[in-house]
Amino acid sequence: MQLYSTKDKSTLFSLKTAVMKGLPDDNGLFMPSEIPALPQTFFQNIAQYSFSAIAYEVCKALIGEVIPDSKLKQIAEHAVNFPAPVVTLDEQTHILELFHGPSLAFKDFGARFMAQLMGHFNEGEDKELTILVATSGDTGGAVAAGFYKTPGIRVVILYPSAKVSHLQEKQLTTLGHNITALEVDGTFDDCQALVKQAFLDKDLTKRQRLSSANSINIARLIPQSFYYIEAYKQLKDKQTPVVFSVPSGNFGNLTAGLLAMKMGLPVHGFIAATNANDVVPEYLATGEYKPRPSTRTLSNAMDVGNPSNFARMLDLYSSTWNIMKEDITGYAYTDAETCVGVKEVFDKYQYVIDPHGAVGYLAFKDYQKENPNVQGVILETAHPSKFIDTVEETIGQKVEIPERLAILADKKKEAIQMGTDFAGFKEWLMGF
Ligand SMILES: *Cc1c(COP(=O)(O)O)cnc(C)c1O
Repeated sequence: MQLYSTKDKSTLFSLKTAVMKGLPDDNGLFMPSEIPALPQTFFQNIAQYSFSAIAYEVCKALIGEVIPDSKLKQIAEHAVNFPAPVVTLDEQTHILELFHGPSLAFKDFGARFMAQLMGHFNEGEDKELTILVATSGDTGGAVAAGFYKTPGIRVVILYPSAKVSHLQEKQLTTLGHNITALEVDGTFDDCQALVKQAFLDKDLTKRQRLSSANSINIARLIPQSFYYIEAYKQLKDKQTPVVFSVPSGNFGNLTAGLLAMKMGLPVHGFIAATNANDVVPEYLATGEYKPRPSTRTLSNAMDVGNPSNFARMLDLYSSTWNIMKEDITGYAYTDAETCVGVKEVFDKYQYVIDPHGAVGYLAFKDYQKENPNVQGVILETAHPSKFIDTVEETIGQKVEIPERLAILADKKKEAIQMGTDFAGFKEWLMGF
């Protein structure tokens, strides 16, 4: 496997470079130079494959010789260690639950796979790799859990004191081992500024091997293609055309779906479902891309005004709007509509959906009006208990917090207090 930057296809990079660097120097995004199709027989016999076997087949085709086969198998097995079940609401409406990992959101898949790949590429180095992550809550939890006990790698998470939820804080501060939490007496922007400055500091980069766990790392995208195939496997009816409705923010999830389609997954199309931050649905409708500052909504993991993976989508369609819109249809919803969606899913199907999934649900229902002969798989990107206030208020019922999260409440928080001045952070990191 080789990769290019979306800004310059003439230079090729190794997977190791792409994964360890995260971003090319020209500020484009890494893309595979070739996306091979899996054999048709693979999809015909898909029922015989376990989730991790699917992951392995995708890795083998995409990554290939770069990583020895036995190692690749091990990586795939370790990366996919929790299920992605499909729940059928009615004949044409399915939910793909992506929240069975440690942080209760689909980002666990990307974080775990990235940890596996980085761990592999880091083998043989005598100095530990230190990953710096600034988080406003969610990403940090997924990264911490994903890298937990990865040999040769330690993770330093900076989070803003008193600005993350109680359980989010516990996710960052109770793991121990190779995960260290810094509680910064400031905002998320302060955390991010400290991390940025660390990468620019010559003393630090000489002393420590620093890396990031960037959300646009190609290693986070690849595993997200596995569960589209895993969902297809679980559909009983393989005749009715399938569309995936993807609640989107930075559009990594949807881009991974496009990857799965390129690799041969029989998909009729994708639905780009957004909240008020609707630059991609707008682009699909008008052909004009107008990024703008994000607006706050109830489905806040999708509050993105300039989605980073849009460049990858354009790349996959050679920037041709009219071809992209044949495959992808866009819909956007207000917060009021989102709540109506949460309520409707509960009243009609007794299924508790989170606000992000609800946006996906509404979009599929609107799509279905124009395309009645399809079945939809709605990606449920987070567990409803992550947005417990909104959901409980909307459905008028208690929402249960899964045990794997609830037990954290009693665990002891361990965090190092940190100010916002760089000198203090630098001193600490030099001696780490
Ligand atoms: C990150 C996130 C999204 C958006 O995913 P993208 O890949 O950025 O489009 C949607 N829902 C939840 C719960 C998320 O955490």
